[in-house]
Amino acid sequence: MVDNVIRTDAVIVGAGPVGLFSIFQLGLLGLRCHVIDNLDRPGGQCTQLYPEKPIYDIPSRPKCTGQELTDDLLKQASPFDPVFHFSDQAESLVRLENGDWRLGTSMGLVFEAPVIVIAGGAGSFVPKRPRLEGIDDFEEKSVFYAVRRMEDFRDKRVVIAGGGDSALDWTLNLQPIASDLTLVHRREEFRGAPDSVSQMRALVDAGKMRLVIGTVEGLEGSDGQLHAVRVKHKADGREEDIPADAFMPFFGLKISLGPIAEWGLNRDHNRIVVDPGTFATDQPGIYAVGDVCTYPGKLKLILSGFHEAAVMAHAAFAYARPDEKMVTGYTTTNSELQQRLGVAG
Ligand SMILES: Cc1cc2nc3c(=O)[nH]c(=O)nc-3n(C[C@H](O)[C@H](O)[C@H](O)COP(=O)(O)OP(=O)(O)OC[C@H]3O[C@@H](n4cnc5c(N)ncnc54)[C@H](O)[C@@H]3O)c2cc1C
Repeated sequence: MVDNVIRTDAVIVGAGPVGLFSIFQLGLLGLRCHVIDNLDRPGGQCTQLYPEKPIYDIPSRPKCTGQELTDDLLKQASPFDPVFHFSDQAESLVRLENGDWRLGTSMGLVFEAPVIVIAGGAGSFVPKRPRLEGIDDFEEKSVFYAVRRMEDFRDKRVVIAGGGDSALDWTLNLQPIASDLTLVHRREEFRGAPDSVSQMRALVDAGKMRLVIGTVEGLEGSDGQLHAVRVKHKADGREEDIPADAFMPFFGLKISLGPIAEWGLNRDHNRIVVDPGTFATDQPGIYAVGDVCTYPGKLKLILSGFHEAAVMAHAAFAYARPDEKMVTGYTTTNSELQQRLGVAG
């Protein structure tokens, strides 16, 4: 017997865009949700990795940022009163005798529900940290692995390291804001988009930023505040201290499915194999949607995740409420759906 169990219709693991839209789709069919995310905010990759960057391929939205999309998904889900549990990780999952699932979290919460929706994206993702002595003292004070608010870097001396899209994108986005910007990359060739490389080189030619081909060797500063980034030039091995208020290494992310990998679900590498007709996994009542799932033709795009959430919700309702009639139809015309949305006339 477990005390303080939270009983609900569905537990959603992951509050990324697909987890958030799953709340809406399950809610329309009358299923209540609790949502767990190990990040401290909703939005998954959209708010963690690119909150201020525009997305151009959401149907009917020619342009919106990761943060705007997240805000609207939250608003759309709000009629269904989802309960969020942030900064908490879904850890354990066991099947009960009655067929329901018991899910435990790292903060000690215990949920019981017939339906578990895994919308865990890439899983728990962590940035690859450069091996620099004392870097922990500066992290989240003047060394950052993501840009949450561009304004924080206004009039700051910024050093960015890396050769991929993140390093180039943030170089281009922060150059107009920073008082001084240097990009450090270990070789002349970049992995990022050729157009971004051209834009960056044009800024260098115009004297608006510096490009150093070399490696970051050390950090100088005190009490968490950086004063300089020490670099070694590739061409002649010369060392130089670049004055800096902020350093951003973009060396990629380490992605690990985390505890979800221990739940015994059928996987293909790090993705959960699902039936694309229902988004059911090989365990009854457990569904997987968004980047975390795989099936023939899977596209790792937000729009695909939205479709998966809608199909999943119908299958999950039929599984959880086999004796109940599902209310289906169009939100434009169905009065029961409109009542659930709180918009009935
Ligand atoms: C730089 C960049 C730009 C992109 N641009 C576009 C674009 O223009 N268009 C597009 O369609 N897609 C784009 N994408 C991809 C898009 O962001 C993903 O397809 C989308 O975020 C997937 O959503 P999701 O909800 O499945 O997963 P995620 O957004 O990854 O969210 C999953 C959430 O689950 C949480 N989680 C995982 N495991 C656990 C656990 N055990 N317990 C609790 N929480 C857990 C994670 O913390 C995370 O918040 C881009 C991605 C990046 C990195």
